[in-house]
Amino acid sequence: MNTVSFADLNLAPEILKALTESGYATPTPIQAQAIPLVLEGNDLMAGAQTGTGKTAAFALPMLQKLLPHASSSTSPARHPVRALILVPTRELAIQVEENIKAYAKHTKLRSLVVFGGVDIKTQTPHLKNGVEILVATPGRLLDHIEQKSVQLGTVQMLVLDEADRMLDMGFMPALKRILALLPRTRQSLMFSATFSDEIKKLSEDFLIYPTLIEVARSNASNENITQKVYLVEHEDKHALLTQLLRGDDAKQVIVFTKTKLTASRLARQLQREGVTADAIHGDKSQSERIQALDAFKQGKVTVLIATDVAARGLDIDSLPMVINYEIPHAAEDYVHRIGRTGRAGASGTAISLVAPDEERYLQDIEKLIKQQIKREPLPVLSKSRPRGEHREREYHRPPPQKPSHDPWFDKPYVPNITASAPLEKKEEPVSRQKAQIPALFRRPG
Ligand code: AMP
Repeated sequence: MNTVSFADLNLAPEILKALTESGYATPTPIQAQAIPLVLEGNDLMAGAQTGTGKTAAFALPMLQKLLPHASSSTSPARHPVRALILVPTRELAIQVEENIKAYAKHTKLRSLVVFGGVDIKTQTPHLKNGVEILVATPGRLLDHIEQKSVQLGTVQMLVLDEADRMLDMGFMPALKRILALLPRTRQSLMFSATFSDEIKKLSEDFLIYPTLIEVARSNASNENITQKVYLVEHEDKHALLTQLLRGDDAKQVIVFTKTKLTASRLARQLQREGVTADAIHGDKSQSERIQALDAFKQGKVTVLIATDVAARGLDIDSLPMVINYEIPHAAEDYVHRIGRTGRAGASGTAISLVAPDEERYLQDIEKLIKQQIKREPLPVLSKSRPRGEHREREYHRPPPQKPSHDPWFDKPYVPNITASAPLEKKEEPVSRQKAQIPALFRRPG
C-alpha cells in the first residue's frame, strides 16, 4: 500500500476538493507514481489498464498544469486546445471526459469529447467555442481537422490512452497524421495495458526519453480476481452459463463473446429465459450502447453481453463477475476483459468457458499472465435449452396463426416461467398466456 496522500502531490485546492467530492481518499499506485512525474514535465510510458485509476493519473496533473490558463472569458481565442487525449472507443472517450469534468468542476477549464457515430454538426459549435481539454477518437478528430473546426497548434500535452487497443483497431495511420499537426515541443503520455514490440515502436515515435512506469503488470495478476476455467463443449456452454448466472455472486455480470452475432443471440436467449440481459457491440447505435450501459450501471439490466471492442474501457464500479462465453483469440484481450472486475480493492470472479477448439488460446493466455488458471469440475447441467442455428431462424419466422406450443421448447407453451419467475405467473389464465404469444414472436433481436 502506498501512504502518499493527494495533498502530498501538490495539487491545487480546487482539484483536491473535487477529489474529495468524488470519494477518492488516497491515490492509487499509478496515480502516486505518475502525478509527480507528469508535474515535473516528463514524457511517460505507463503500463496500466482500466481499473487502475489511470485516467486520474494523467488528468489530475494535466489540470494542475493547465490551471494558470483557466479563464472565464467567453472569447474562443482564450480557450485554445492545450491538452489532447486520444482514445480508441466512444465509450472510453465519454468516460474519460466525464472523469475530467468531475475533477475540473471547481476550475474554469473547459473540456469536450468528440467521437464518431454521431452527427458531426452537433460537435462543431462546441469545438469552435474553444476548449482547453479535448478528448477524441482519432477518426472523428481528423474529420474535425479537415472541416477546420479545430486547431492543434496550441497543444502542450498529448495523451494516448489504451495505445495497444488503438493499434489493434488500426488507428496507426490516423495517429501519425494527427501527430504531424502537433507542436514538437509538448509533453506526451502513453498508457497501454501491454508492451508489445509495436507499442515500443509507437512510443519511440510519440515520446521523448519517456519515464517508464508500470503498475502490477496487469489485473491478470491482481490477487482480487479469482480466475476459473470450465472445459466445456460448445453445445453445453449455454446451460452452464445459465447455471452460473443463478449463482449468488452473479448479481451483475458482463458476459464476453467473440462475435456480434453470438452477443445478440445470447442476449435474446437469456431474455426469453427471464434474465434481464442486453447486448452491446459494434452494430448497435451509439444511443443503444449508451442506453444499455446506463441500464446496466443502474442495475436495471443484470447481464450485459459484450464484444471486446464495445466493452473496451467500460468504467463500471465494483463488478463482481465477468464470464468469457467465448475466450478471446488475442491473449491481451483476456487481460482487458477480466480487468472489469476486482477493481479498487474489491474482489471479483472471472470465469472462462473453454471448448476443446479454444484450448490453444487458453494456453496463450496462461503464457501471457504467467499462471495456470484453475480448472473447475463441470457441474451437472440441466439440458433445458435448445441450441443451434435452426432454432434461431425459427425465432424470426412470422408468428403462426394459432401457435399451440413454443417452437423453442417443443412442449406446451407457458410464457414467462423461469426458475426466478414469480409463482403467480404460472397460474395466469390460459387466455392471457395465448395473448402474449404473438408479441413474443414480434420482439426485435
Ligand atoms: P480508471 O482506471 O481511470 O478507469 O479508473 C477506474 C475507477 O476507479 C473509476 O471509477 C475511477 O473513478 C476510480 N478511481 C480512480 N482513482 C481513484 C482513487 N484514487 N480512489 C478511488 N477511486 C478511484
